[in-house]
Amino acid sequence: MSGCLFCKIAAGEIPSEEAYADEEVYGFHDISPQAPVHVLLIPRKHIASMNDASEADGALLGKLLLAARKVAAKLGIAEGGYRLVNNCGEDGGQTVHHLHVHLLGGRGLAWPPG
Ligand code: AMP
Ligand code: ZN
Repeated sequence: MSGCLFCKIAAGEIPSEEAYADEEVYGFHDISPQAPVHVLLIPRKHIASMNDASEADGALLGKLLLAARKVAAKLGIAEGGYRLVNNCGEDGGQTVHHLHVHLLGGRGLAWPPG
């Protein structure tokens, strides 16, 4: 979608630090990391938020989670553990309206989140 920051990042029009790439999913390091490892996994297809995902997107959503698992292993946090987060909408704290999964790890993470 034109004008979407993460569509531009997935297309390579805006630079990012790549952590994962395949035909359908792109992963990159968050510009403002909240943990030693903070990677964002996005579908290359524009989906604004979880509210906008359809049944037909089911396999793609699964691929996002599996990509996160691969990045966690590659970056050495699989054994220690990590957190996957999707912020949806205003109460969820979503600031970029292209669906993404945060992969956070490399330190103990508090629960409940803020
Ligand atoms: P959310 O608040 O869940 O919508 O997450 C958006 C995330 O995108 C935040 O953690 C931001 O730090 C991150 N972010 C925003 N712009 C960029 C960028 N150009 N490159 C990498 N991460 C970004
Ligand atoms: Zn987009």
